Amino acid sequence: MDLAPLIRNVPDFPKAGIQFKDITTLLQYPDAFRHIIDGWKARYANQRINAIVGMEARGFIFGGALAYAMGVPFVPVRKKGKLPARTIAATYDLEYGTDTLEIHADALRKGDRVVIIDDLLATGGTVAAMARLVSQLGAEIVEAAFVIELPPLKGREKLAGIPVHTLVEFMVE
Ligand code: AMP
Repeated sequence: MDLAPLIRNVPDFPKAGIQFKDITTLLQYPDAFRHIIDGWKARYANQRINAIVGMEARGFIFGGALAYAMGVPFVPVRKKGKLPARTIAATYDLEYGTDTLEIHADALRKGDRVVIIDDLLATGGTVAAMARLVSQLGAEIVEAAFVIELPPLKGREKLAGIPVHTLVEFMVE
């Protein structure tokens, strides 16, 4: 299934120069949503996956559906200050300044085999920080999967050693 035409491009959002890839239009097509989730479910079915780790907020949509389909726990990663219980944190660099992500300290166990899910891989900074959180809890990253990849931003280079799986590429900066 060709997902590219279902993803809306919004120029200059949230700021000038960014080509925002909007997946809300894709979500209007249940067959496309099911195609994504069923494809990932089949891909990870025999990989002894213990949990799906999803990034706020669009990673919750895809990651939550995948965890439900696979019958495994869903573990949220959120921006600093949103998770209520004890957390561990990872800080990463943005174009201007830094951002901090958190995961509940008891959300994964040592040796758990997890798949990380987000909607889009750009520079890889977000998923690299998620990977540090998962590793700090002693879990193993089987793969990081995304609906969309922006290859010119070279996210894969920041993720040395982590297998990456994406479904549709856009050649925008
Ligand atoms: P990065 O850390 O640079 O790989 O950015 C990935 C995160 O930012 C993901 O959570 C995406 O949802 C979001 N993101 C970055 N660039 C875009 C874009 N062009 N369109 C939509 N979302 C984006």
